[in-house]
Amino acid sequence: MLKNKTPFIHEGIKSSYIESDTIIIGMPFDATSSYRPGSRFGPQCIRNEFDCLETYSPYRDKDLTDYRICDIGDIELPPGNTEKALDIIEKELKSVLDDNKKIISIGGEHLISYPAIKSFSEKYNDLCILHFDAHADLRDDYLDEKLSHATVIRRIFDCVSKDRIYQFGIRSGTKEEFELGKTMGGFYKYSLDGLQEVIEAVANRPVYLTIDLDILDPSVLPGTGTPEPGGISFNDLLEAFNIMKDINLKGADIVELSPHYDKSGVSTVVACKVLRELLLLINNRNC
Ligand code: MN
Ligand code: MN
Repeated sequence: MLKNKTPFIHEGIKSSYIESDTIIIGMPFDATSSYRPGSRFGPQCIRNEFDCLETYSPYRDKDLTDYRICDIGDIELPPGNTEKALDIIEKELKSVLDDNKKIISIGGEHLISYPAIKSFSEKYNDLCILHFDAHADLRDDYLDEKLSHATVIRRIFDCVSKDRIYQFGIRSGTKEEFELGKTMGGFYKYSLDGLQEVIEAVANRPVYLTIDLDILDPSVLPGTGTPEPGGISFNDLLEAFNIMKDINLKGADIVELSPHYDKSGVSTVVACKVLRELLLLINNRNC
């Protein structure tokens, strides 16, 4: 299993698996990318760049060194077999959840959230999902494929009731997806407006947060497979982290960074900073 491997050491992320509260896991998978593949390089590029970032966050007045975090590396996934890859991800995460750890997964494409959320939903039966994305990802199939980055939230209906799924920033999808959105726990177009009321509704229930980085405007993060103009700013995302500071966050993922579409490298830096803020958010409560 992944948890038996030697962890990666970063500034501020030096704990062993056993002593850590939070585990970082890379998932280099982009087999169903429909437009531009490349998100399989996300975990590796984030790891290479992460140490250039300060471990201290002025936004939170907290430091990564205050917490016990372990980067256990990437799950090895077989190329060309989506079902098998998803099955491996689910089993690895279950095994880490059995040790009562919190998990932050680094994609990879958005489909990795399906097996991740499946394993969390088995541990936490009233799990709520917060979904940040430019895309609704509510198709029932995409080009006849049931398992796709474009169907991931629809697949999650199998394990989490849709009235416990809340979507934000959505600005692209089919008419049917937008109709279906009206039946969700919350469906907020274009921005993160509505997050405060959702946080109050979720109250103390366990939360999984999935961040498709294309929620950010392409001027902030061009390095992604399906860029979508009209997105939120980095400061909007920081404000969301502030609004969420007291939620009962059990797990999260950052998906759809495709580093090589951004020659400047800024998109990877943005993703690293999102990761740092997410690590501080998930460790904000000691439960
Ligand atoms: Mn997505
Ligand atoms: Mn998206």
